[in-house]
Amino acid sequence: MSIARDPNFAEGPDGPEPAGEPMAEIRVAGADDELDRSLRPPGLSEFVNQEQVTGQLEVFIEAARRRGEALDHVLLAGPPGLGKTTLAHIVAAELEAPLVQTAGPALERKGDIASFLTALEPGSVFFIDEVHRLNPAVEETLYPAMEDRRLPIVLGQGAGARTVTLDLPAFTLIGATTRAGLLSKPLFDRFGVSHRLEHYDAGDLASIVVRSAGILDVGIEPAGAAAIAERSRGTPRVANRLLKRVRDFAEVRGGGVVTEDVATEALGLLEVDPLGLDRHDRAILDAIAVKFSGGPVGLTTLAAVVDEEPDTIEDVYEPYLLQQGLIKKTQRGRVITPRGGEHLGVELPKQAASLF
Ligand code: ADP
Repeated sequence: MSIARDPNFAEGPDGPEPAGEPMAEIRVAGADDELDRSLRPPGLSEFVNQEQVTGQLEVFIEAARRRGEALDHVLLAGPPGLGKTTLAHIVAAELEAPLVQTAGPALERKGDIASFLTALEPGSVFFIDEVHRLNPAVEETLYPAMEDRRLPIVLGQGAGARTVTLDLPAFTLIGATTRAGLLSKPLFDRFGVSHRLEHYDAGDLASIVVRSAGILDVGIEPAGAAAIAERSRGTPRVANRLLKRVRDFAEVRGGGVVTEDVATEALGLLEVDPLGLDRHDRAILDAIAVKFSGGPVGLTTLAAVVDEEPDTIEDVYEPYLLQQGLIKKTQRGRVITPRGGEHLGVELPKQAASLF
């Protein structure tokens, strides 16, 4: 078995030690795209859980296939790492259609989206990640394209300008967003199908870890998979990345097999606590609990104190902290809950406790 060394894992005198910011990028797409790609399930049958979403998609895909038509446009919402990109690839594969992929911020001008649209082959799946970050001009170009496959183009300038309309081939737009609430209504309304992906439970994550270990050729015991799953914040991407890091540790300390002890020790070294929180999550909780006396504190202020972008806090950190009932959003800002205080081991000021 050949093990590729993870650059995030430096070799210390006593074996591997976490170096730099091992968890900082673990949840964000782009940090380890190659791993995401290699572990992506190829078909709906291998896509774990989210049966409500996959069940419906299966029916729509079959119906579109029988009618020989393109699938209705699909919006996939949910926090990063839950499988939105994976599902877009699966839909294209199941339709046996080409997939063209881009992201909202990459489409700066009308011309950018026009060149994607005019190059689509009939039946293509056009995947736009971060679709809530399209600029208004680009978004308006999408409306007629989504609605009746038309692309109006203005030729010339000033008084001599005229509009020609190009016909586009049938295509399916799949939009992914971490923030469905930021989508404009006209854009939202043009998606025929809209799904929200939910966090995964530990059992489902454990099956994802076991499947990934098979692909990565890592020996793993069920209790080792369960230990990783429990600390993966309900997120398959996190589970896969933790597995990759634990694998190194297993190689040096555990005879190459991920046992429960090896996983627990490695995750401890990575500063991932039993709830799956890393030191960035704890810094956020700690800031609300201690610096702001339990809250409420506004997002921008909180972001400045913990030195993160407000968007990163909202997209990456908060969904899990909210889901675990560690923090709450109120009209006046974020507050820590009694459970959050308990998890940190700090006593909350009376005023904060009285908010519950
Ligand atoms: P998103 O686009 O929502 O940020 P991705 O689709 O890139 O998330 O998923 C991240 C990784 O997690 C993928 O590479 C895939 O290996 C894994 N993954 C996500 N959802 C599932 C699932 N339901 N079953 C198995 N693996 C999954």
